[in-house]
Amino acid sequence: MSLAENTEIRGGQGQVLDPETYRDSIGTMEQSGKRKWVFPKKPKGKYTNYRTIVAYILLAIYLIVPFIKINGNPFLLLNVIDREFFIAGQPFYPQDFFLLTLGAIVGLVCIIIFTIAFGRIFCGWICPQTIFLESVFRKIEFAIEGDRNKQMKLDRQEWNAEKIWKKSLKWTIFFLLSLVFTHFMMMVIVGYEEVFKTVAEGPFAHPTNFIVIMLFTAAFYFVFAWFREQVCTLVCPYGRLQGVLIDKETINVFYDYKRGENRAKWRKGEDRRAVGKGDCIDCFQCVVVCPTGIDIRDGQQLECVNCTACIDACDEVMVKVGLPKGLIRYASEKEIETEKPTQFTGRMKAFMILLVALQMFLGFLIYNRGDLEAKFIKPAGSTFFVRDGLITNTYSYTFLNKSNDKKTLTIKVIEPAHGEIIYSGSSKITVEKDKIAKGTISITFPEKEMNLSKQNITIGVYDLKGNLVDSYDTYFEGPFNLQF
Ligand code: SF4
Ligand code: SF4
Repeated sequence: MSLAENTEIRGGQGQVLDPETYRDSIGTMEQSGKRKWVFPKKPKGKYTNYRTIVAYILLAIYLIVPFIKINGNPFLLLNVIDREFFIAGQPFYPQDFFLLTLGAIVGLVCIIIFTIAFGRIFCGWICPQTIFLESVFRKIEFAIEGDRNKQMKLDRQEWNAEKIWKKSLKWTIFFLLSLVFTHFMMMVIVGYEEVFKTVAEGPFAHPTNFIVIMLFTAAFYFVFAWFREQVCTLVCPYGRLQGVLIDKETINVFYDYKRGENRAKWRKGEDRRAVGKGDCIDCFQCVVVCPTGIDIRDGQQLECVNCTACIDACDEVMVKVGLPKGLIRYASEKEIETEKPTQFTGRMKAFMILLVALQMFLGFLIYNRGDLEAKFIKPAGSTFFVRDGLITNTYSYTFLNKSNDKKTLTIKVIEPAHGEIIYSGSSKITVEKDKIAKGTISITFPEKEMNLSKQNITIGVYDLKGNLVDSYDTYFEGPFNLQF
C-alpha cells in the first residue's frame, strides 16, 4: 500500500488533500500557471558535503580536460563542424560513426539499467545541470543575498539601493561565469588553441566562434539565472522517463511514511508512539530545502532530482529531537512498505553484470577497430584496357591512419594470384599519424588469369615488415567476351 493509499495527504501549508491530488500540479507553478519562484534553504549535512566534493572534482575535470593531450591528440574533442572527434586521445572519424552510435546506444542502455536499479542518482550527483546550479550559481546567490528568508525578503522589497547592488552584483557574476564556462565548453568543440586565438584576435577575425560563444553564454545565463529547476521538471527527457523506468525495487530518496505518519508537531517530553503520532514532526524543513519545490512526504515525484537536501535537513531535525536518523533516506518503495532493509538483490546483480558486459563489448569493438582504414575505389567512368596480354584497371586509394605513429605502406594483390601493382609515384606510401593519404594505382592481370568480365579481387596493404595492415575487397573489370 502506498503512502497516498495509506494516509491522508497534506499540501504545502499542511492542509489535508485528497490522496494523489499533489500529482495534479507541479510544485513550481501557481494554479494560474504563473511560475512560483523556489527559494530553497541552504542545505547542510553529510550528503551535501559529499555531493559538494563530487561536484568540485567533476568541475575540475571539466576545466582541465580541454588541455589534456595524449600522444599529441586532445583527450576529448567533439568538433561536429569539421567532423573531428577524439575520445580518450583516440581519433574517431566519420568512418567510425557506427562505433560512436553504438557507444551512445550502449551509454543509453547503461543509464536505463542503472536508473532501474539505483534511480536518479545521476541527477543528484553527476548531472551538469545540478552541479552548476547547486554547487556554483546557488552558492554565489547564498553568499550575496543570504539564505532563504533573506532572499524572500529581498525579492519582496522595492528596488532600493540594497536590492539594486545585490541583484546587479549577482547577475554580473552569473554572466561572467557563464562566459567562462562557455569558453571551456567551446574548447571541447574546437580545441583550446582555437579558443585562445579567438580571444587574442577578436570577434572580427573569428566571427563564427564569437557568435557561437555568445549564443552559448546567453543560453547558459538564461538556464542558471532564471530557468533553473524547470530544466529538470519540465524539459529534461531523462526526468520524464522516470515514470517508466523506476519500480518498487528502485533505490530513490524516500520518506518512510510507515515511521513518519501520523505526522504531528513536536511536544517536548511527549511519548509520540503512545499517543499515536509518527516520527515526522511536521517541521517542513525537508520542504523548504527542496530546490524543486516539492514535499517528499507526498511520495515519489517526477520533480525529485534526488539531491539529498531533504535527507540532510530531516536528519538534522531528528538529531535535535532525539529520534533516529533516516526518516527520509535512500530506500526502495518495497523496503518502506515491507519494513525490511533493501538487499543487493539478484536483479541488481544481473543488471551490474549486464552493465559490465556492455562496457566490455564496446571496449572490444574500439580496440579492434584497426589502426588503418584502406579503401580502393574505381574512379567514376573508368573501365579497363588490354595491352600486351595484360588487362589493366585503375583505382583511387585512400589510407586513413588512425594510429599515433607515421606509417609507410606498400600494396599487393592478395586474391587472385598474379596481380601486379603499378604505382603512379613511389611504391612506399607514407601516411602521417591522424592523416589521410590519397593516390592512384593501376592493377594488371594476365589476360589468361581473368575469366570473368567482373571479378572480385582482394587488395592488401602491408607495412615495411610485410605485415598485413588492412585489406579491401573490390572488383576487377575485363573484356565481356572472355570465356566463362
Ligand atoms: S525531494 Fe529531496 S531529494 Fe528530491 S529534489 Fe527535493 S530535496 Fe532533493
Ligand atoms: S524534515 Fe523530517 S520531520 Fe520535518 S517535516 Fe520533513 S520529514 Fe517531517
